[in-house]
Amino acid sequence: MEAVKEHIQAKGEQAQLDLFQSTQKIIKEAVGYLGYSDGMYELLKEPIRMLTVRIPIRMDNGKTKVFTGYRAQHNDAVGPTKGGVRFHPEVNETEVKALSMWMSLKAGIVDLPYGGGKGGIICDPRVMSLGEIERLSRGYVRAISQIVGPTKDIPAPDVFTNAQIMAWMMDEYSHIREFDSPGFITGKPLVLGGSHGRETATAKGVTICIEEAARKTGLELKDARIIIQGFGNAGSFLAKFLKEKGARIVGISDAHGALYNVGGLDIDYLLERRDRFGSVTNLFHNRISNKELLEKECDILVPAAIANQLTADNAANIQASIIVEAANGPTTWEATEILSKRGILIIPDVLASAGGVTVSYFEWVQNNQGFYWTKEEVTDRMRDVLITSMNKVFATAEKHQVNMRLASYIVGIRKTAEAAHFRGWA
Ligand code: GLU
Repeated sequence: MEAVKEHIQAKGEQAQLDLFQSTQKIIKEAVGYLGYSDGMYELLKEPIRMLTVRIPIRMDNGKTKVFTGYRAQHNDAVGPTKGGVRFHPEVNETEVKALSMWMSLKAGIVDLPYGGGKGGIICDPRVMSLGEIERLSRGYVRAISQIVGPTKDIPAPDVFTNAQIMAWMMDEYSHIREFDSPGFITGKPLVLGGSHGRETATAKGVTICIEEAARKTGLELKDARIIIQGFGNAGSFLAKFLKEKGARIVGISDAHGALYNVGGLDIDYLLERRDRFGSVTNLFHNRISNKELLEKECDILVPAAIANQLTADNAANIQASIIVEAANGPTTWEATEILSKRGILIIPDVLASAGGVTVSYFEWVQNNQGFYWTKEEVTDRMRDVLITSMNKVFATAEKHQVNMRLASYIVGIRKTAEAAHFRGWA
C-alpha cells in the first residue's frame, strides 16, 4: 500500500515538474517575441523568493503534528506579489513555484499592479476538524509573516481554502502587526472587508470568457452542451451561471467520479447535495471516471479541477470545439499544440481564471481606501477588464500567428518584463 502511494506521489511530482518546465519554455518564447534579452529570461524563469516552513500544530488528540508549507513570490518588479494559498495533500514545492509564475501572467493579462505569488500547505482539510484547520491557518501566517503584508505579498483563497480561513489568517496577521490589516489578504467575509462578488468571481470570469468565445466562434450558448470537470468553488458556481444562461450542463465531476447525461443534468439538485469540498458523485451509481468524462461529446469543455488533465494521451479524443480552463494548469503544452492544430479554441487558464484575482484586487483597493463598492460596480468593472484582456490576447494570437496559450504568455509577461527593465534588473 505504502509503495503504491509513493509511486502515485512520484508520478504526480513528475507531472508537476513537466508543467513547470513547459511554463519556463513558454516564458522563454514569450520573452523572445517581446524582444528582451536572455538575461530577462534568466530573471523570470524562477520565483525570486521561495520560503519553506514547518508548522507544529496541536491536533485534537493532544499530539503535535508538523506540517510543511510554502510561499513563492515570482517577481515583485510591478508591485506586491499576489496569489492564493491551497491546502491539499499533493501540494509540493514545484507546483507552488509554477502557480506563482502563472499568477504573474494572470496579473499581467488583466493589467493589475501586482506580481505573482502563491502558497500551499501539505494537508488534507477534508479529514481535519475546524479547530485544527484554524490552528494551522494561524500557524502558517506566523511562519510566513516576515515576507507577506498589504504592500509586500497578499494571499487569497485557492483549492480547499475559503473566506473563513482568510478571516483567521487576517486576524492572526492583525495581532502580529498590532493594527487592523484587512488589506493583508483577500477573499474575506463581507463584514471583515471582503468584496461583493469575490466568492463567485472566478466562475463569473469564466462565464464571461465562455460567452465571448461562443460569440467569436458563432456558437449559440442557449442549449450548448457543456462539460465541467470539477464541482468546487469555480465548477459549481459556473454550472449555476451557465444553466441560467440556458446552456445544457451534460457532465460534471468531482474527485470520486463523473456524471454524464446528454439530455442535461439537474444542476439545482446536484448543487443542493454537494458537500463543502465539492463532492457529490459518490451519491450515484453507474458513475463514470473523470478520464472518460473529458472525452465525451460536448460543445464546450471546462476543466475546473486540478492540473494535468488534458495531455498528449487524450488530446486527440477530445470532442469539444471550445476549451475554457477554469483550473490552473489543466492542459500540458503537448496537448495545447495537438488541440490547437485540430482547430479547437482554447481560452487558457491565465486568462479564463483571472476573474478571481481581478476581484481580489478590487477588494484590496476597497480596503486601502476604506470605501466600499456595490455588487453592480464590481461586476461591471470585472466584465470590462476581462473583455479588454480577452481581445488583447486574441489580437496577439492573430498578430504573431501563435496559439492562444503562447499569446496569453506574451500579453501576461510584458508588464513584469517592462517593469524589471525600467528598474534596471535586466
Ligand atoms: N487563487 C486564485 C487564483 O489562482 C485567486 C488569487 C487571488 O485572488 O489573489 O487565481
